[in-house]
Amino acid sequence: MIVKPRIRGFVCITAHPAGCEAKVREEIEVAKAAKKEGGPKKVLVIGSSTGYGFSTRIAAAFGHDAATLGVFFERPSMKGKPASAGWYNSVAFEKAAGEAGLYAKSINGDAFSNEIKAQTIETIKADLGQVDLVVYSLASPRRTDPTNGETYKSVLKPIGQTYTNRTLDTDKGEVSEITIESATQEEVDHTVKVMGGEDWELWMKALDDAGVLAPGAKTVAYSYIGPEITWPVYTNGTIGQAKKDVERAAAAITAAHDCEAYVSVNKAVVTQASSAIPVVPLYISILFKIMKEKGNHEGCIEQMVRLLNERMYGGDLQLDEVGRIRVDDWEMEADVQAAVAKIWPDITSENLNVLSDFSGYQNDFLELFGFGLKGVDYDADVEVDVPMPSHS
Ligand code: NAD
Repeated sequence: MIVKPRIRGFVCITAHPAGCEAKVREEIEVAKAAKKEGGPKKVLVIGSSTGYGFSTRIAAAFGHDAATLGVFFERPSMKGKPASAGWYNSVAFEKAAGEAGLYAKSINGDAFSNEIKAQTIETIKADLGQVDLVVYSLASPRRTDPTNGETYKSVLKPIGQTYTNRTLDTDKGEVSEITIESATQEEVDHTVKVMGGEDWELWMKALDDAGVLAPGAKTVAYSYIGPEITWPVYTNGTIGQAKKDVERAAAAITAAHDCEAYVSVNKAVVTQASSAIPVVPLYISILFKIMKEKGNHEGCIEQMVRLLNERMYGGDLQLDEVGRIRVDDWEMEADVQAAVAKIWPDITSENLNVLSDFSGYQNDFLELFGFGLKGVDYDADVEVDVPMPSHS
């Protein structure tokens, strides 16, 4: 079929298999160009199909020749409809890994469940023996707790105050004002249940108890801090409480197992998760303009190459005062933040394309779903029902 983008609010409900593959090949070239000796060899990536987790998988495989096992929740093609982008990304990744002689398998299902943890452990036992790096990169709006069967939903809300600021309708290119009411305590607790560190701890315990965690293994989960303008809805909001819990979990994991657990604070980038956060896409559009002008703009793959090659396996962790890895360092530089803050009050729908890199935002957004890639014929018929190589 001929696949065109169908955008609904902050999601695109179609994805292009050839476009996703082209994007994956681009990221692979970035990882290969930065190839380094040493580093992780057997890697489990939880949340491996899109965004930061996917780029970490690429950086580990093609930058360090690592065997990778990926866990994700994606939709294969059904009834002639395209699969989700993360499905096509993973198919393309497995294909490229196979061509390069690298082990790559993928497990599609709910990472919060006991069943998927057990299936992952069985696969590691059978194929890899042990893993020496575990990447935890889930971004999910809900989680069913396997201990009580209850489903919790996360919300993106401020705590203890109503928050009003500018936001961007990325579909229409309109800047408007948004007001978000304060979260209830129950909403805070549920967001921590979904996006906090509890499930990361459960994974690490399950892996260690099963003997599939290599002695001295490393594990990393991702966080975000960002500019003061977004703090009420991010860092000081419900999601910020969940991220504090991820930091708590890192210390608990290091104490409980023979492994080093880190939180890496990453740069703001366009992903399916970040496009859903109010205010953040407008900030990202301005940030991209400033960082591209400064010449130090990065996407997911450049960030993850720097995380593995320089920080986690380069002997230069550069931990901050509370022990976190900071690859958001260039985003948070004082001159970058001052430049964003200067533009922020003046931005309107009319000057959006002048004062920000909204077109760069839109390109990145379309690329998430395999659209707008050079060399892809979007008028050609493509097979949308593509199987996962490791599932056949
Ligand atoms: P994303 O939406 O691109 O990726 C989420 C991944 O989680 C996908 O692979 C998806 O399949 C998987 N997933 C979701 N629910 C699942 C489930 N129940 N079972 C199995 N897999 C599931 O998100 P992202 O932006 O890459 O976020 C990953 C992490 O990076 C998050 O912790 C996020 O807070 C953090 N982070 C993101 C940014 C940013 O700007 N995007 C910045 C800093 C940190």
